[in-house]
Amino acid sequence: MISRIDLRGSLPDDLRDVLPRAELDVEAALEKVRPICEDVRHRGAAAVRELTARFDGVGLESARVPAEALARALEELDPAVRAALEESIRRARLVHRDQRRTDTTTQVVPGGTVTERWVPVDRVGLYVPGGRAVYPSSVVMNVVPAQEAGVPSLAVTSPAQKEFGGLPHPTILAACALLGVDEVYAVGGAQAVAMFAYGTEECRPATMVTGPGNIWVAAAKRLLKGRIGIDSEAGPTEIAILADETADPVHVAADLISQAEHDVIAASVLVTTSVELADAVEKELPGQVAATRHSERITEALAGRQSGIVLVSGIDDGLKVVDAYAAEHLEIQTADARAVAARVRNAGAIFVGPYAPVSLGDYMAGSNHVLPTGGCACHSSGLSVQTFLRGIHVVDYTREALAGAAPYVCALADAEDLPAHGAAVRARFDWEVPA
Ligand code: NAD
Repeated sequence: MISRIDLRGSLPDDLRDVLPRAELDVEAALEKVRPICEDVRHRGAAAVRELTARFDGVGLESARVPAEALARALEELDPAVRAALEESIRRARLVHRDQRRTDTTTQVVPGGTVTERWVPVDRVGLYVPGGRAVYPSSVVMNVVPAQEAGVPSLAVTSPAQKEFGGLPHPTILAACALLGVDEVYAVGGAQAVAMFAYGTEECRPATMVTGPGNIWVAAAKRLLKGRIGIDSEAGPTEIAILADETADPVHVAADLISQAEHDVIAASVLVTTSVELADAVEKELPGQVAATRHSERITEALAGRQSGIVLVSGIDDGLKVVDAYAAEHLEIQTADARAVAARVRNAGAIFVGPYAPVSLGDYMAGSNHVLPTGGCACHSSGLSVQTFLRGIHVVDYTREALAGAAPYVCALADAEDLPAHGAAVRARFDWEVPA
């Protein structure tokens, strides 16, 4: 059901060559999404409607979800789901509120200051996936940090669903309503990203598009980056578990399965120092998979080349492996898990010990679940308040402070053969500052 890689000898120089990983060819998908984005750019709402008919099988009259549909979805929301969403929002707000930045002013010299002012982007388009599974939790994870950052205008989009009369799934609409988001579109895939990037007759352009999605969404974000700001590429989900002989194989198997449930190309990787644990997990998987609803999808994900069990000779090697893998989600199920977790350098989010499964982080830990995948965690972070802020330096110098800097400015300007730079400073002092 799941393959094994034995790295108990010496570790190879480039671990990334031997570790399991999906081959997600976003570059190849770019060629497919380019005409989609161009079509939306030139034909606007008409192109969005036609593409939605082609890819989602829905004939939209308008891409904008009417206000009554949002209100109705909230009214009809199962009270247990409502309570869970409210608690998820409350916890996410606690964490994201603490991420707010305060402006800082540094006095560089007497009379010369630089202030870093944090300003939210003007308008964001938030993508909530809806192809294979429904993600009301992704509404929370996108909207809360944008709101806490103080973004003045935000809109949500999620694929139109045939079985819900061409609207996004009602739980997604209800989550938008709970969060006070009234601008919602029933558009998915690359056409949704293009709609926000270029704007249409129905939707004003956004300065930034964030949120997870499939390969078409990731490719459109990569293609349109520059015209719009984007967050990191949050593609098919991944879990890596670093475990030793103290881990419970039932929990480990359950956690591997829980992420494989997302997608046939989701990745579940166990890195362990214990052959006994590896054997026990392998023995545990078939029974747990058979007992769960999406067993076909999970079986395909676990058997795929992106999933596997990696045997290592000790925790130090295990840490090298998980750092090279740079998982979206990393669980540490070892003795002294906190100390081991503190040594990890590359991961989207780290889940410490036996009582912090990834499912907790997906919904209710308060942390964000929109996280970098495909190894991008070695250079990128998950969605946060910071994603939506720009730091602007405000430079404020008096005449005296500029006079003190002038000889240095002139010397460096001359060294770069840009004499007009020096002249711009000297002009303020009637040329009294020596060149
Ligand atoms: P999705 O909303 O990303 O994509 C559905 C859309 O894709 C459809 O609306 C359609 O317009 C478009 N599409 C489908 N086939 C197409 C084709 N052949 N050509 C062009 N466009 C096409 O939903 P999904 O497919 O379920 O994918 C969601 C992904 O998001 C999963 O891989 C899941 O693991 C991932 N995810 C990641 C995170 C994270 O934080 N990393 C969180 C939640 C979900």
